[in-house]
Amino acid sequence: MNTDVLIIGAGLAGLFAARQLTAAGKRVLLLDKGQHIGGRMNTRQLAGGLADTGAQFFTVRDPAFKALLDGWLADGTAFEWSRGWSDGSLVSTRDGHPRYAINGGMIELAKKLAVGLDVRLKVEVTTINRLDGGWDAQDSNGNRVSANAVLLTAPVPQSLKLLDAGRVVLTSADRAALEEIDYLPSVTALLHIEGWVNLPAPGAIQRLHAPVTWIADNRQKRISPVTVLTMQASPGYSHQLWDKSDDDILRSLRVDLMPFLGDNARVGAVEIKRWRYAQPGNVYPGRYLLAADQASPLMFAGDAFGGPRVEGAVLSGLAAGDALNSLV
Ligand SMILES: Cc1cc2nc3c(=O)[nH]c(=O)nc-3n(C[C@H](O)[C@H](O)[C@H](O)COP(=O)(O)OP(=O)(O)OC[C@H]3O[C@@H](n4cnc5c(N)ncnc54)[C@H](O)[C@@H]3O)c2cc1C
Repeated sequence: MNTDVLIIGAGLAGLFAARQLTAAGKRVLLLDKGQHIGGRMNTRQLAGGLADTGAQFFTVRDPAFKALLDGWLADGTAFEWSRGWSDGSLVSTRDGHPRYAINGGMIELAKKLAVGLDVRLKVEVTTINRLDGGWDAQDSNGNRVSANAVLLTAPVPQSLKLLDAGRVVLTSADRAALEEIDYLPSVTALLHIEGWVNLPAPGAIQRLHAPVTWIADNRQKRISPVTVLTMQASPGYSHQLWDKSDDDILRSLRVDLMPFLGDNARVGAVEIKRWRYAQPGNVYPGRYLLAADQASPLMFAGDAFGGPRVEGAVLSGLAAGDALNSLV
């Protein structure tokens, strides 16, 4: 199979880049190893409810992203969830800046963006090789795709692995810049709760310097018919919990949860997710990186390029798509 642009990763960056390229008439194929579209925009089903397990909300700084958001608010895709979070004490930490979320769960935005795109899920790319006039990608089933250009939107260490497997050599400056990007982990728990949960309106607490930084009630968020909580450990606490069993992680997290459970509340089904590359700890100073000295375009994009958040991934994808449009 041959395409103009092969995009590895169908998260926000990949989807936005694909939309820019497709709108300009390019043939685009997106491959993603995940079971679901959206990457870290992920919503899970648990005990008849729904819970956002990756990004919880998003903020807006850039006018281009604001224009997109205005469309999503107008058509009911997005809603304003809050203007800041309580830390669980009586002291208000609300700062007045709007935080937005997606109706039905964050994954719904990715599903909407993917309409009309050629996205293949459960395809893990293992190797990128140089070809005369382009690139060749191989997946874990041995299938191959050739493309005039490749856009890598996976977390950077994962993208570098694919190039290393195909012995693609980057300039030392590009390699050094990419290797400087690191990621923070997140151990995230989803918990179905029967009974009363006492989280302050509108359903979440945030404590940036505590072991558990985030507890949210997806029912109060209005994406779930039943109470499913999302709990996130800080990067440091996630490191400590990483190799523990799911049962031990749950035992540890329960300590932080107890003050918010009513007397009659019971923890039901639980799911633990270990995000190795939850958010970049530091980012590249540009919205994408076009690898230097390559015969055909090879580009990196994602939240490590636009900023460590939903908005950053979107802006990076848009910029990468625009840049590739003029190269392919
Ligand atoms: C727990 C958690 C909480 C977060 N909270 C927030 C928040 O509240 N607000 C906020 O703004 N942001 C938050 N974020 C960050 C936000 O989710 C990300 O910045 C954004 O979704 C990244 O999008 P992306 O397209 O750059 O990468 P991703 O969404 O990671 O997309 C990359 C894709 O590449 C695929 N992939 C990787 N390797 C391969 C391969 N070899 N072959 C094929 N496919 C591959 C992956 O499956 C993935 O789908 C959070 C993230 C996490 C994990």
